[in-house]
Amino acid sequence: MEKILTVTNLTKKFGYLTAVKNLSFSIEKGHVYGILGPNGSGKSTTLGIVLNVVNRTNGEFSWFDGNISTHEALKKVGAIIERPNFYPYMSAVQNLKLVCKIKEVSTGKIEEKLKLVGLLERKDSKFKTYSLGMKQRLAIASALLNDPEILILDEPTNGLDPQGIHQIREIIKKIAAQGTTILLASHLLDEVEKVCSHVVILRKGEKLYSGRVDDMLASHGFFELKTADREKLTTLLKENTSFGEIREENGLVTAFLTEKMDAGTFNRWAFDKGIVLSHLVKRKESLEEQFLTLTKNESN
Ligand code: ADP
Ligand code: MG
Repeated sequence: MEKILTVTNLTKKFGYLTAVKNLSFSIEKGHVYGILGPNGSGKSTTLGIVLNVVNRTNGEFSWFDGNISTHEALKKVGAIIERPNFYPYMSAVQNLKLVCKIKEVSTGKIEEKLKLVGLLERKDSKFKTYSLGMKQRLAIASALLNDPEILILDEPTNGLDPQGIHQIREIIKKIAAQGTTILLASHLLDEVEKVCSHVVILRKGEKLYSGRVDDMLASHGFFELKTADREKLTTLLKENTSFGEIREENGLVTAFLTEKMDAGTFNRWAFDKGIVLSHLVKRKESLEEQFLTLTKNESN
């Protein structure tokens, strides 16, 4: 796998406060990574360090194969770590032309990027007439003008209304689908669950977990079931060692798996036992529950 970023034993102290503590993780090409943690857990500090705007206290980070300077590497990185700021009386297109000039990239991609973020129809409107969501989308277009290898976003949906949040998440997924690696910091569990394939979870600057979001949901999940013959179903489930806890509520039977099983296999098993299901849904414990379990175990 091609490495985009490697962080090794990174530490940042602000006076006596340790904002990032001995943090290591790596980012590989083509995935969507989340840095997840409550406010103050060191997400922005970590992004600031790898983007060369915050000085590290200890540890290392290296971009790409490690053979180019951070300055050169950052030309292949698109990042939005502050609230979008453009010239209010200039249009989207005029603002992006200026960005191209400053970044020394061609203006040839402006329309393509505006289209990607859904702002093509509003390209000639002044920036000051944009909603916060539109401003954020323009910032994303701006960060993509040089077709970066990786797009870095710090809390990209903060302050937006539900529709604005949805639009930004869809755009992130679209950018990822085109092959751009993404690293986004968020304090929102469901955001990471919805958008990211991989996650680094921080608490007080320390890594609690890093890996695939799927693997983190390592519990085997549960089935939600309905059938006309509920008693027979629950009796059979209790005899089946693939299941642990069985719950019944308002006609819905919830059966927790103790090992891997897909819905099709379960359906066949039930049918062979003479049970016809009118409802069968497989679910996993949400990342939120996992996250709460992880962050709950505080010894101090
Ligand atoms: P997050 O982005 O996860 O909310 P931050 O990285 O912004 O967290 O902050 C981590 C910790 O470092 C917090 O306790 C914060 O108050 C502190 N911190 C961040 N920047 C500075 C700074 N420039 N000076 C002093 N403390 C800071
Ligand atoms: Mg932050």
